[in-house]
Amino acid sequence: MQNRIAVVTGSTSGIGLATVRELAGRGCDVMVNGFGDRAEIDRNCAEIAERSGSRIVYSAADLSRPEEARAMMAEAARLLGPVDILVNNAGIQHVAALHEFPDDKWDLLLAVNLSAAFHTIKAALPAMRERRWGRIVNTSSVLGMVGAPHKPAYVAAKHGIIGLTKSVSIEVAPHGITCNAVCPGTVLTPIIERQIAQQAEVTGLPEDRVLQAVFLEKMPTGRLIAPEEVASAIAFLCSDTAGSITGTALPVDGGYTTH
Ligand code: NAD
Repeated sequence: MQNRIAVVTGSTSGIGLATVRELAGRGCDVMVNGFGDRAEIDRNCAEIAERSGSRIVYSAADLSRPEEARAMMAEAARLLGPVDILVNNAGIQHVAALHEFPDDKWDLLLAVNLSAAFHTIKAALPAMRERRWGRIVNTSSVLGMVGAPHKPAYVAAKHGIIGLTKSVSIEVAPHGITCNAVCPGTVLTPIIERQIAQQAEVTGLPEDRVLQAVFLEKMPTGRLIAPEEVASAIAFLCSDTAGSITGTALPVDGGYTTH
């Protein structure tokens, strides 16, 4: 994967940050994106660049805004070169019963978790088609395959991104481009830490019980997944040897969706 140019959205923490480390370690130059403490982001980027010898740049684009998603893709091409690999990983969650679910949260979750991928893929495709090579990986979730209460926007968006993945994969296959999704189970990252607290509030259960009942009991492996386990699946789907794998939704879920 030497000298491939990658954009990983939502990569200032968790699965995205682990994916940047993995891709940079395999020789990719990477654009990092997401929110967070700017000094910590700069430190992480510098550390990854030094360790890997790859170029690492950062965009603070807010992907709930289509114009910022488009500008980020243009900036990646300007700073690093034509984008070969696009990982749509940015995601947010909101937990509330449907009859109380705020309208603005519905719109925001759909914008970040689904529509942003439409805009970045649209921006990435012309250069990928011209170069007849491209890898697109979208982070869905086990909740892109099965339902769950109190997460209507997340479940709808994560199902939607699998639909987008399948549609795009057929369209771009003749041009040497693949498009796949990964479906993580429970990975202990900031999004899950916030979700456990929200879920405890909605259900009235203590947080340790929520972690056990809502997350761990669903995974036959009975343990949390490490961000690196998802990152290595994403990196595999971005590799040359995965060229015949397209339109799939790959569970990295400790068996969550097998029963
Ligand atoms: P995380 O909270 O560590 O990462 C989310 C990233 O998205 C952060 O970098 C954040 O800054 C970024 N982000 C949020 N809103 C954004 C916006 N408007 N514009 C740009 N970036 C934005 O959580 P994570 O677990 O690493 O989540 C990564 C992806 O994995 C998400 O799509 C999430 O839905 C998915 N996922 C996570 C789990 C899990 O158990 N952690 C399970 C299944 C799927």
